Amino acid sequence: MSLEFVCSNGCGVCKIRLADFEVYRSETLDGDLIERRTAPHIVSACCGFAVDVWDERVQDVTGSVSVEPVPRVSVEIREAP
Ligand SMILES: [Zn+2]
Repeated sequence: MSLEFVCSNGCGVCKIRLADFEVYRSETLDGDLIERRTAPHIVSACCGFAVDVWDERVQDVTGSVSVEPVPRVSVEIREAP
């Protein structure tokens, strides 16, 4: 495998992990959370930054990873008191 993941924060080669990013949030007028939806994104395991793809054959960055590998949306609903 000649492709490696590189942290965009300047750490060099890194591992990747999934992080949940908030894509939707609904609150009451008092600021209580009603609904929150998140979607997983691939980020660097070291800093949680975006990840670039480094190709050893061409010694250059050939792409970046910003995909949601699993089209999943988690929804939390909390009753207002
Ligand atoms: Zn990093």
